[in-house]
Amino acid sequence: MGKRKITITVETHTLLSVRRRKILTRAWCQQCSDFTEFTSLEEAVALTSCDDADLNELIASEKLHTIKTLKESPLVCFLSILRHITKA
Ligand SMILES: [Zn+2]
Repeated sequence: MGKRKITITVETHTLLSVRRRKILTRAWCQQCSDFTEFTSLEEAVALTSCDDADLNELIASEKLHTIKTLKESPLVCFLSILRHITKA
């Protein structure tokens, strides 16, 4: 019943609820050096409970990973979001 178990539960619940909404895109994350799932900036704001300014700061400090897309707004690495929200 350690902290790790709670973290896994949070990660699983978050991942499942986002998956259900089909808003994840699978792509290569350079900072994770792996294929991870990416979500929109709007979702990242909702998941982290940050405002836009906070989110930009997290991205600038590379606490959140992003990739550029053909569309205008970048996508945010879902793993980096999970790490951020479960660390708090
Ligand atoms: Zn990443």
